Amino acid sequence: MEYIKEIFKYLKRTSPAQNEFYQAAEEILISLKPLIEKYPQYKKHKIIERIVEPERQILFRVNWLDDNGEIQVNKGFRIEFNSALGPYKGGLRFHPSVNAGVIKFLGFEQIFKNALTGLQIGGGKGGSDFDPKGKSDNEIMRFCQAFMSELFRHIGASTDVPAGDIGVGAREIGYMFGMYKKLTNKYEGVLTGKSLNWGGSLARKEATGYGCVYFAKYMLADCGETLKDKKCLVSGSGNVAIYTIEKLYHLGALPITCSDSRGMILDEEGIDLDLLKELKENKRLSLSEYTKFKPSAKYTPIAEYEKGRNNVWSTPCYAAFPCATQNELNIKDAKKLLENGCKCVCEGANMPSTPDAVDLFVERKIAYGPGKAANAGGVSVSQLEMAQNASMLKWTFEEVDTKLDGIMENIFQTASTTAKEFNEPSNLVLGANIAGFRKVADAMIEQGLV
Ligand code: NDP
Repeated sequence: MEYIKEIFKYLKRTSPAQNEFYQAAEEILISLKPLIEKYPQYKKHKIIERIVEPERQILFRVNWLDDNGEIQVNKGFRIEFNSALGPYKGGLRFHPSVNAGVIKFLGFEQIFKNALTGLQIGGGKGGSDFDPKGKSDNEIMRFCQAFMSELFRHIGASTDVPAGDIGVGAREIGYMFGMYKKLTNKYEGVLTGKSLNWGGSLARKEATGYGCVYFAKYMLADCGETLKDKKCLVSGSGNVAIYTIEKLYHLGALPITCSDSRGMILDEEGIDLDLLKELKENKRLSLSEYTKFKPSAKYTPIAEYEKGRNNVWSTPCYAAFPCATQNELNIKDAKKLLENGCKCVCEGANMPSTPDAVDLFVERKIAYGPGKAANAGGVSVSQLEMAQNASMLKWTFEEVDTKLDGIMENIFQTASTTAKEFNEPSNLVLGANIAGFRKVADAMIEQGLV
């Protein structure tokens, strides 16, 4: 469609060198074609032209002192993308690969993901190119404080509520919350993913991984299948991967892989979850330590992967759960998965499959759950954390988990019904993109040109 192509060209010209953002934008814009053709109001109100521009982008310097007393300088980002449905909401990522294009892709995806949850949250994202690896606890604290000493003036419980992402867990949220409280003199739900001791929600830590498996459960139920006794591949070994593995076990599946940025584990007996948590959550060690405690498992360092590509995906499985990072599953991996009989790919990470891999999954009509639908459990429970903070109540684990399951079912149904409405019943990419977009777009039209 010429109109969408023109917008895409404009994006490339006016936001140069933001490849991840173009990738996310292209996928969404292309799938909007049938909606735009059928309903002229979106074109008339220039919703696409408006939605691809963040409402506000904040770039800032973060100075901090390392343990040697040396000054370190990092970049800080917060993109407040769209507030039509509620306060900006989305995580903070601390990773050396972070740049404006990465944060913008994550923020753009977040708008539609948050809309799909059916909750009142807008889309935003932020982070820094700070690398937490190898830093002492004091360095992490000083960095988080320095980061918040600028961010605090832009956020607030009803303005913009950040959470965690890669490199940002409960420890970092704690240090940032402490600094926010000191600077503003306010004890409010300005961050989610907080410790359970002081305002966090039960089941937030588990939410993205559990939600991803709930989404797979509903996708598979729709074709009369279950995960019981099925071999599953998981990538990553961080927050999302660990709780994906845990929920897979709850549903009777057998997760046999996990990975980190240095290598992967293949454990045919099933990943030892207690060991994984001990290594990754408690000790923050490399996965290579796993085989010291479980010698029957196999560790493959990344240097041995063919041309540096992740090879988690080369093991035969029924279902695959990419839970590490963007573009970790390419066309070659996708072909290998299908060749080996994989029937389901459900994304815990954001944009883990490359566009040609996504096209192949859609074309072959396997049960494919795109990240913006399948990993929305984290942000959903973040919103439940905000609701608990605002009402000064605390819900039980079961209450939150039951709500999460219901939200994931609802997201699946919304994406599936929308896909059917546009005559592509198995295409949840199209269904999720159109359903998310339509909700935000209608709100933007109703709120006028602001
Ligand atoms: P964590 O930092 O807890 O874990 C990330 C995992 O991915 C680690 O095992 C890390 O290995 C690995 N990893 C990171 N970068 C790379 C890379 N370039 N190559 C190979 N492995 C890599 O992050 P999360 O689990 O929170 O996030 C994982 C994904 O899920 C991200 O895409 C995130 O955006 C998405 N997500 C997270 C949500 C949440 O609630 N946390 C919500 C929705 C989506 P290592 O430790 O060696 O770096």
